[in-house]
Amino acid sequence: MSTQKVAIVTGAARGIGAAIARRLADDGLAVAVLDLEAQACSPVVDEIIAAGGRAIAVGADVSDEDAVATAVDQVTAELGAPTVVVNNAGVLRDNLLFKMSVSDWDTVMAVHLRGAFLMTRACQRNMLDAGWGRVVNLSSTSALGNRGQVNYSAAKAGLQGFTKTVALELGRFGVTANAIAPGFIETDMTRETAERIGVPFDDFISACADDTAVKLAGQPDDIANAVSFFVDERARYVSGQVLYVAGGPKA
Ligand code: NAP
Repeated sequence: MSTQKVAIVTGAARGIGAAIARRLADDGLAVAVLDLEAQACSPVVDEIIAAGGRAIAVGADVSDEDAVATAVDQVTAELGAPTVVVNNAGVLRDNLLFKMSVSDWDTVMAVHLRGAFLMTRACQRNMLDAGWGRVVNLSSTSALGNRGQVNYSAAKAGLQGFTKTVALELGRFGVTANAIAPGFIETDMTRETAERIGVPFDDFISACADDTAVKLAGQPDDIANAVSFFVDERARYVSGQVLYVAGGPKA
């Protein structure tokens, strides 16, 4: 029987999630590349397999309880029981408070918070059975407050509390839970933000880079490296932490 560890990375068809999936596969894990549509995950899966790794594409909406259960069953049958969960799936529904609809509030809460809860709950039994597990949640510097993002900042701050509580509950079973709070990272999500505020993406990238201590725009691999650290066996004593990966200090 294989002792290869199995990871689920949500929202992994593109952007940060795709980089995380590739990195964990490079690290020797079998990876379930999960996104809303399985088909959208195929390029990432093909890349991992071409590089000699093991991966499958899984389609599921992380905010749907039945879809999450079915997805975890599929991963268990095809790759093995997942003991690493990276809750990365995310959406933006930005607006100023007075213009924000209930539906935009609910959508953001459902994907980020309910999604992380459902996926982590569905996999925790495997982690307990294995006496080992890793949960990594994608928070954001927006958790500290960001104009136009009451829903997103509340969800990302909520994920920090979720992370710390999972760390406390599951630590005795060999499970760590940590959060990564990226600053600006060049992806479709930040391209969408630039479009919303009417700034050309290149100008937005330059302005965001200038706003950091290191004067660089973040790349998906910058986040994948941090995930790789938290998932590593050697990170067993690091739990309940929020790591700001933002090119400089954040409070
Ligand atoms: P992205 O390019 O928009 O990718 C997000 C992925 O999540 C997409 O593939 C999307 O699928 C998928 N997704 C959305 N809703 C889903 C659902 N209900 N179930 C399953 N998958 C779903 O975003 P990103 O920039 O890579 O961000 C990844 C994570 O990092 C997010 O949690 C984001 O909030 C966080 N983050 C990003 C930044 C940044 O600067 N980019 C900064 C801080 C935090 P579709 O393509 O089908 O919509």
